[in-house]
Amino acid sequence: EKVLEVKNVKKHFHMGGGQVVKAVDDVSFDVYKGETLGLVGESGCGKSTIGRTIIRLYEATDGDIRFKGRTTKKLKGRSLKEFNREMQMIFQDPYASLNPRMTVGDIIAEGLDIHDLAKGKERRARVVELLETVGLNEEHAERFPHEFSGGQRQRIGIARALAVDPDFIIADEPISALDVSIQAQVVNLMKKLQREKGLTYLFIAHDLSMVKYISDRVGVMYLGNLVELAESQELYDNPLHPYTEALLSAVPIPDPQQEGKKERIILKGDVPSPIDPPSGCRFRTRCPKAMDICGQEAPQWQEVRPMHWVSCHLYQEESLKKDGK
Ligand code: SF4
Ligand code: MG
Repeated sequence: EKVLEVKNVKKHFHMGGGQVVKAVDDVSFDVYKGETLGLVGESGCGKSTIGRTIIRLYEATDGDIRFKGRTTKKLKGRSLKEFNREMQMIFQDPYASLNPRMTVGDIIAEGLDIHDLAKGKERRARVVELLETVGLNEEHAERFPHEFSGGQRQRIGIARALAVDPDFIIADEPISALDVSIQAQVVNLMKKLQREKGLTYLFIAHDLSMVKYISDRVGVMYLGNLVELAESQELYDNPLHPYTEALLSAVPIPDPQQEGKKERIILKGDVPSPIDPPSGCRFRTRCPKAMDICGQEAPQWQEVRPMHWVSCHLYQEESLKKDGK
């Protein structure tokens, strides 16, 4: 069951001097109820922008986003309020996203107040329950964000998101700012909450190893495009896109038998500017397998195996013919 449909979405930012940053350019994917879809890519690839566009912090430049079958573009009044409750976000820097002058109890209860879900004793009981759900306790309600560690602050951010009983959570690099030892705790908490509450996650990250652990499916973004999307195990076992291959070659393998079989692929050059991206395939300036056609035509977004999508000329017969391969 599709809970979210992202169809040909573009998000362009107009800068001074007529320059346009094509932060997200024609991205399409679905998210199924109860799953975790991981989105990975280097900083600036558009993964946070797509998350913010889905939750309507940004307005899409083009394309359509459907949540539970309804376009989110024209939501108004009660249906907009309902959407704002059902979809919540967890941010990378829990400190920056928590008001330093509010007590943790009031931070967590903010959504309850906005959506008029609980008052007085009931509100207090709900806050305590939420604190306990994320591994904190009642005494923490009177304290302020600066009194907590990074991991605890992210737990507070999670409690705040959960307060309004959402269905869908966009987590934008929720563990990137945390110590490695704390990352697994937060991810495990998120997995537990998902099972208990039937939540659907869009989990944005730049670290492929943690994404595999939490995600049912993983999408890879590069310079505003989604270049590959597959079930986690399939993506890690059979990466098709040369960019995914390069990213995976940098992930340490826990299995010593595999060690040495995998060569690290070092990409040449830097990520080009999203103001003036390369013609054709945007990855071509760094792709070890680039062909002539890659500069002439953008590859199609195609399902080349069941549930395995990729956009690369290497998997398009037409393209290979034109290129004389
Ligand atoms: Fe490389 Fe061409 Fe595939 Fe782009 S389309 S990833 S340049 S082979
Ligand atoms: Mg980001």
